[in-house]
This record gives sequence, C-alpha cells and structure tokens, in this order.
Amino acid sequence: MHNPSHAPVPAAQHAQFTQFDHDHLIHPYTSMTEPSPVFMVHSAHGCELQLADGRVLIDGMSSWWAAIHGYNHPVLNAAVQGQLQRMSHVMFGGLTHEPAIRLGQRLLSICPTPLRKVFFSDSGSVAVEVAIKMAIQYWQAQGKPEKCRLLSLRRAYHGDTFAAMSTCDPVTGMHSLFENNLTRQFFADAPRCRFHEPWDDRDICSLRELVSAHHQQLAAVILEPVVQGAGGMFFYSPNYLREARALCDQYGLLLIADEIATGFGRTGKLFACEHAGISPDIMCVGKALTGGYMTLAATLTTDTVANTISGNGGTFMHGPTFMANPLACAVADASLELLLSSPWQDSVARIEQQLNTGLAVCRDLPAVADVRVLGAIGVVELRQPVDMTSVQPRFVELGVWIRPFGRLIYIMPPFIITPAQLSTLCGAVATVAAALDG
Ligand SMILES: *Cc1c(COP(=O)(O)O)cnc(C)c1O
Repeated sequence: MHNPSHAPVPAAQHAQFTQFDHDHLIHPYTSMTEPSPVFMVHSAHGCELQLADGRVLIDGMSSWWAAIHGYNHPVLNAAVQGQLQRMSHVMFGGLTHEPAIRLGQRLLSICPTPLRKVFFSDSGSVAVEVAIKMAIQYWQAQGKPEKCRLLSLRRAYHGDTFAAMSTCDPVTGMHSLFENNLTRQFFADAPRCRFHEPWDDRDICSLRELVSAHHQQLAAVILEPVVQGAGGMFFYSPNYLREARALCDQYGLLLIADEIATGFGRTGKLFACEHAGISPDIMCVGKALTGGYMTLAATLTTDTVANTISGNGGTFMHGPTFMANPLACAVADASLELLLSSPWQDSVARIEQQLNTGLAVCRDLPAVADVRVLGAIGVVELRQPVDMTSVQPRFVELGVWIRPFGRLIYIMPPFIITPAQLSTLCGAVATVAAALDG
C-alpha cells in the first residue's frame, strides 16, 4: 500500500513516540492504562492528514467540527504569524487589543441582532459555564435567587465541565458517575419531529409541561438548535425552536442556544437558530470559531441581560487567565473573514447533495437503522454499536479519517472538500457499514 521510505518519521523513532504516548498520555474518553491504539499525525494540509508512517488520510471529521477551511491554510497561517510578531498574549483584565475588538465587531455583525455583548473564553464547555452564570446572575440581580435551575433536553450535549455536564443527557452524560457532584436540572423529552418532516404539535408537550410546572425555579432553557450533536446526531424540526422561544417568552425565561457545533455554516445557515428565525438571549459559539486553529469560544448576550446583571453595580463573575487570547482572536477573525468572503453556502449545499447521494446506498444495508443528512453533516446510524478496535483501523486502511461513536458513523468534512475526496469518504462509510452484521 504505502511506501515506508516516504515516512516522515523513521520507524524506530515512531515506535518510541507511540510507546510513550501509550504509557503516559491520556486521550479523550479512554482507559488510563489500556488505551486503544492511536495514529500519529505528522502534518495536515487541506483535507488531508499525513500520518507519521507516511500514510495519507482524507479527513471526514474536521477535527470535531472545527477545521472548516481545512488544515494549514495560508491565510490563517499568516494571521497567526502576523499576530505572533506583535504579541501572543496579554491579560484581558484592564487591557484590550485589536484582535479581540475586531473579532467582537465581526461576531456582532453576523449574530442575531439582539446579541450585543461578547465574553471570550477558552473552550466550548467554559462558554456554557459562562452562559449558565449569566442566566443565574440575571435572576439574582432581580432578587430571585430561587430561579437557578436549567431546563435541558434529553439527548443533549453541552460539554464536560460540571455545570455543562449537569445539562447533558442524564443517561449518556455521565450523570450516574458524578451524581453527588451534579446540580439536578430538568429534562424535557428529546424532539422527535425530524428536520424535514411536517411539524407535530405533540413534540413540544414535554417542554411545555416542564416549563409550566417549574418556571418559578427555572433560570433558562438550554438547547442545541436543530442539531443534537454528541448526544445522538439528530436533526430536529426548526419549529421546535420557535415553540421553545415562545414558551420562554410566555414565562419570562431566558433561552440559551448552544451553537458550539452548529455555528459558522455547518447546517447550511451561519447559525442554526436562523432555520427557525429566532434569536436566543444567550448564545455560545466555539469549535469552528478559529477554523480549528486554536481553542477559543464566546458567549454572547443581549443588552437586557447585561443591563439587568449590572444595573445596580453588579459585576459579571468570570475571568479566565487566557481570556480573549490575541493569537486565537486574530485567527478567528481571519477565519470568519475567509468564510464570509467565500461561497460557503454553495459549498455546504454541494456537500449536502453529495452526502445524500453518496450515503443513500447505506439505507438498505442490514446493519443500518437510519441515514440522515443536514448541511455538511452526514450520519449513518447503525443497529448495534460499532466495534472500534476493528472499525477504526479499517477506515485508516481505506485511506480516510472517520471516527464513529456508539451506533453512529458520521462525517462532517471541511467545507473545501473536493467531490472526489467526499466520494472516497462516502465510499468508505458504505464499505464499512456493508461489512457489519445486521
Ligand atoms: C463540543 C461541544 C461543547 C463543548 O465544547 P469543548 O470545546 O469540547 O469544551 C459544548 N456544546 C456542544 C453542542 C458541543 O458540540
């Protein structure tokens, strides 16, 4: 297959590196003593990852929704290098800088218009923590400290830190493990009505009942607009969002939209809330914000929330050390400029169309329960969880980087993926799915 003489890392060194990794480095959601094998990446360019052993893989993951422009992009590289010449970091307490200001301006110019304030943080989970604090402080400032709980959805995923985790699906969200340390939140049934299906009013009953029963304890409703991501890769009706917005308005609750996965074009709209024409009171973005270059997230909110929290001299109580890191802000601003000046809607529509045709063959396979596509996200849901020890190396053999979880094989490639590359990705999914037992 591949020619080992082209390996960028000599075989003996490669073995030493991966041995160290195996012995000492902890990977996401893995055993600390018997980790599953990992593949060492040497470099990445466009939509390709080059492994240290010389093999080249087409990237189907965008490094978890992030690398929308692909890897090693000259414009983004230049943005990092340009900022590096001036300063890589300064504290944001008492100081400010052009990269944060420019990024703030650009974010406000593309977000739903009621959002007027931006808090920059380090990661998606922290952006959710910040959103929850904003919601709680909003009610505190009005003398209603009892309104401090969150109403979330089953199948939700909002991050791995404690407050974020408390709003994740109670079954898949590690709640039994950390039960004694988690705030108990409320959970409505997950939406069932699919994105392209006609709306069924029964879908909102559970949320409506919980809001009406518990609104006196509730600070906010939190949800992932349109795409429930890590909790199940399910695409639901935008009408659910409109109904949720109306319920929040009726009972005076805040609506938090977690756009960390969906933001910046992935679903075919810049933000998934646009599918429903609604605007949240608080919105979280992350993942693709920097085009996958650095870790950065933001929590945005309205003047109403800000004025309420700080109306009587209140301060907002959060402030990470690396808040608004200039390198991250500079590359984020460059990434957004690149996105907005590109025909990204056409690219996403083209990817959507090709995912629809390319994954359709999976529908009739015995192992497959469902195939669904929205924007640049393609999902093949299996009847049984995949065995990662055999499936992961199989994808690598097929020359693609696709990382399933549970019963889900999904691809969400960089927006610059070529038709030929996407065809290889879809073919690999079909090949793997066809080899699985029903
Ligand atoms: C990934 C994700 C998060 C958490 O972001 P991290 O950067 O991993 O902390 C939160 N919400 C959603 C919807 C996500 O997809």
